[in-house]
Amino acid sequence: MKNIYYTKDIKCPICLLEFSTTKVRMSAVKVEGKDEDFCVYYKDHNPIYYDIFICPSCGYASSENSFNKLEDREKEILIKAFFNREIGRNFCGIRSHTDALDSYKIALYTASLIGARKSNMAGLALKTAWLYRYTEDEKEKDFLKMALDFYLEAYDKESFPVNNMDEHTVIYLIGELSRRLELYEESINWFNRLVSHPDGGSNIRIQKMAREQWRVVRGIMKKI
Ligand SMILES: [Zn+2]
Repeated sequence: MKNIYYTKDIKCPICLLEFSTTKVRMSAVKVEGKDEDFCVYYKDHNPIYYDIFICPSCGYASSENSFNKLEDREKEILIKAFFNREIGRNFCGIRSHTDALDSYKIALYTASLIGARKSNMAGLALKTAWLYRYTEDEKEKDFLKMALDFYLEAYDKESFPVNNMDEHTVIYLIGELSRRLELYEESINWFNRLVSHPDGGSNIRIQKMAREQWRVVRGIMKKI
């Protein structure tokens, strides 16, 4: 077990409790496959399960990257919302699939309280959808739709890069999420933007993926 997991010490920015949370060692992570919307399949140990840090005292939850990056205004909102809250559940140890799912839902709720950027919300919703996909649960679609709506809003209102993704990657993802939700007209329109983008060569990998998925959607539309 020691070689698979390790713990990280952190301090909750809301209630100031110091706690340790579990993470998977990168050396224990083995990738088995990837879907077109970047969902990764792991053998044995899934690091996505541990992306969200949750304070065992007040329940403040956020992805590791943004856990300690709260503005004062956001802290105030969360201190008010979480004051004297008892969550009665501890996410700091080894997580089950259900624990992982719940951790993302709590992070989504927390992000919505502080009016987080739509791109952040989209990323959380997309990973929640992947967790449902791992167990072939229909609820995947609800969270794909949520992710799509958030990415559409982010595309309109935010400046790139968002969540380490350039404009082309976000356009591609919107096209691919639309395809998965059987919104084929929308999907092909978004893939078209990339295929005919004047700056198309700047992200060759995404350009190539967009062409492949464009063909897939065209194939489906012809059959319909
Ligand atoms: Zn706390």
